[in-house]
Amino acid sequence: MPEPLPSLVIVGRPNVGKSTLFNRLTGTRRAIVTNEPGITRDRIYGKAEWRGHTLEVVDTGGIIPDDKALIPQEIFRQAHVAIAKAALLVLVVDSQAGITPLDQELARLLRAAGKPFFIAVNKVDSTRQESLAAEFHSLGAPVFPVSAEHGTGVDDLLDAALQHCFPSAGAELSPPASPAEEKPVEIAIIGRPNVGKSTLLNRLAGEERSIVSPIPGTTMDSVDTDVSRDGRQYRFVDTAGIRRKGKTKLVAEKLSVVMARRGLERADVALLVVDGEQGVTQGDATIASYAEQSGRSVIIVINKWDLAVEAAQKAAERDAATAKGKAKRAGGRPQDAQVDRGKLLLDYEELIRKKLKFLSYAPIVFLSAKSGDRTQKLFPLIDQVAAARARHIATPELNRWLKNVDLQRGTTPKARPVRIYYVTQAKTAPPTFLLFTNQKQPLHFSYERYLENQLREKFDFTGTPVRFVQRLRKRGDRRSEDSE
Ligand code: GDP
Ligand code: GDP
Repeated sequence: MPEPLPSLVIVGRPNVGKSTLFNRLTGTRRAIVTNEPGITRDRIYGKAEWRGHTLEVVDTGGIIPDDKALIPQEIFRQAHVAIAKAALLVLVVDSQAGITPLDQELARLLRAAGKPFFIAVNKVDSTRQESLAAEFHSLGAPVFPVSAEHGTGVDDLLDAALQHCFPSAGAELSPPASPAEEKPVEIAIIGRPNVGKSTLLNRLAGEERSIVSPIPGTTMDSVDTDVSRDGRQYRFVDTAGIRRKGKTKLVAEKLSVVMARRGLERADVALLVVDGEQGVTQGDATIASYAEQSGRSVIIVINKWDLAVEAAQKAAERDAATAKGKAKRAGGRPQDAQVDRGKLLLDYEELIRKKLKFLSYAPIVFLSAKSGDRTQKLFPLIDQVAAARARHIATPELNRWLKNVDLQRGTTPKARPVRIYYVTQAKTAPPTFLLFTNQKQPLHFSYERYLENQLREKFDFTGTPVRFVQRLRKRGDRRSEDSE
């Protein structure tokens, strides 16, 4: 039997936004449990996943008796079963209604139950309304201003809940994590046949004198390889797939796409391997586009760099020979046939960027898996990319950044410019940002790209896609802003 999940139980008087918060915490997955003894209404269960941990979330809801005096007892009675096994209680209150006698009564009952609880002050829909949360401190528990509807502040609430329910997770919440407790970074090596995926895997796993072992529980055709390096854990997923080769070229090509998609399903980071001698082909671009769509972080590995340099060297010698012949005939001094490696790299990078425009966030490494040349650059880069993927920027910091972005420069030629009032990071992996705007109309892509570039300049999101989700800020919010 697996360990039961710690349970976060939501309580509160009617209409404060309990179900909205429940939906926000659990996403769409919800399981309704009916007909439990002592429960008059469906008690709703769901799961909240946050920073690699899972919590059970229970919405106690409840039918409200006509007799007002019985309300708190009835809410409490219905919540009772859930409360008994709760790891943490969240009392939801309504910032717009202010503190009510019923809130006070419920807080009193929760204290009497002897369970730790947080107060989620809901309907704080903008930073300007955060002051509304102040009065709820009198209820005697930690206060979290949130907007269940918009998702703001919910991240802080979840962080605190995790710290409470998984005390050992404290280190993970405030990086750098202690290596011993770290989850391995899951890595998929993907690419066309013959680009050097197996060679690279052997190099990465072998060179580090690692513990290389099939992970128990994985099936024969899906074997993972664990690598431990400098106290950090890495897991190369589906390495059996990497070694599997197709019998014909066509089969091998198809297989490589299937393996890439399978690997991407499980990975945090994809190493997209490209044959540096051949350059980026249509097949590479196809696999790259799957990597992009998957929302995984990507590092572009230009392999067989030795062969690319060799080819460039030969070309340079040929050119030099021609120049020499010309120079001889003209009576000048012959040129040296040295290829400029730095320039070759830059030219090459430009070429790759052009062909893989949609992976502009992916760093590029040039290496030779066969000789091991430059492969040592890969692990630190994987670390950086994995950290960027999990990066969470606090809401105040984000809004300070937003204030300093010259949004006019990114504005589209529309009659009514889009205004961004507020931004918050709704999730990580990949980092996803909610933008509260004055228009429903989607941001023009060039404007969004401008915003993304500005964000990337300020915060390190190397290798990971970032997503923006636009939310219309309601007129009611505008009014409260105007009246201030
Ligand atoms: P419950 O009875 O406590 O489960 O409350 P509901 O989740 O059904 O929400 C009650 C009402 O409050 C609904 O009309 C919601 O749309 C609204 N509501 C919930 N969360 C928010 C919020 O963050 N901001 C605002 N302005 N309204 C909210
Ligand atoms: P996979 O099909 O992508 O797994 O490719 P393999 O790892 O089997 O490599 C295909 C061929 O490319 C093999 O003959 C390798 O020796 C060769 N190869 C792999 N990496 C390099 C490299 O960095 N330089 C050179 N010159 N050859 C390489």
